[in-house]
Amino acid sequence: MHALSNADLHCHSVVSDGTLTPELLAARAKAHGVELWALTDHDEVGGQERALAAARAQGLPYLTGVEISVTFATKVVHIVGLGFDHHNEQLVNGLRATRGGRGARAREMSEGLAQVGILGAYEGALRYAGNPELISRTHFARFLVETGQCYDVPEVFRRYLTEGKPGYVPHRWASLGDTVRWIREAGGMAVIAHPGRYGFTPTEEYALITEFIGHGGRGIEVVTGSHSAADILQYTDTALEFNLLASRGSDFHSPEESRVDVGKLGEHLSGKLQPVWTALSDRIHWPPSAH
Ligand code: AMP
Ligand code: MN
Ligand code: MN
Ligand code: MN
Repeated sequence: MHALSNADLHCHSVVSDGTLTPELLAARAKAHGVELWALTDHDEVGGQERALAAARAQGLPYLTGVEISVTFATKVVHIVGLGFDHHNEQLVNGLRATRGGRGARAREMSEGLAQVGILGAYEGALRYAGNPELISRTHFARFLVETGQCYDVPEVFRRYLTEGKPGYVPHRWASLGDTVRWIREAGGMAVIAHPGRYGFTPTEEYALITEFIGHGGRGIEVVTGSHSAADILQYTDTALEFNLLASRGSDFHSPEESRVDVGKLGEHLSGKLQPVWTALSDRIHWPPSAH
């Protein structure tokens, strides 16, 4: 297991805001040389059974995955869960409750956009949502690009969907403590997703990491599609300083939109780090051919 280097433990399918099915993702991961894969849809484990079967068919070792939206100190933080039992009732119910507010939020977003002349955004976004319960800002962004109101998805976020912009609606997601507990009590490991993206001050980041560890969280993403080379160095140090296990994942959503494709991360975890999979070996689903 220690020789494993091309792990991709973070990506999205049509079950949340990705554009590929779990089956196509598994095939793409395999074709790109992924040696250990996890599908981590936002707030939803409904794609896990398909991902498991597809990984098995591709001969790809698999860890169950999810990326949970958390409200922490007025900001949104994402926590990845890996290697849990995806049938665990507390986890499934907790995720269902977290998803609950998305419909009302989406309608409010649509009203905000209507006030600046963008009509029918709710219906438009819904057409892009493979899973209506998971309607997200990404689906609004795709609608605005398709209708020619913006050039690409990042421009939509900049102009319309981030704090202070007309389509932004603050939302209360799950708590950090509940999230880490759901993952742990389902037998999995909690991992802080893309820490370089939050724009926290050092004090805020320290609070996040120490509270996360206090709740039993054990991992942090170091190499991700959202990190610069400098971020990777910084969070390598952070992982060592706090004795956290290190994770690696592309955060791939779509061939047209994502900066890094599944399995195509350019950097590996530093040899100084302890990878998350070294502590999850009994949670890996091995395909028959791997034996
Ligand atoms: P939501 O969960 O509805 O708030 O949507 C969050 C999703 O939007 C994230 O998971 C990303 O896929 C996407 N996203 C967030 N910020 C940006 C950005 N600046 N540019 C492109 N996509 C973004
Ligand atoms: Mn997303
Ligand atoms: Mn995320
Ligand atoms: Mn993600």
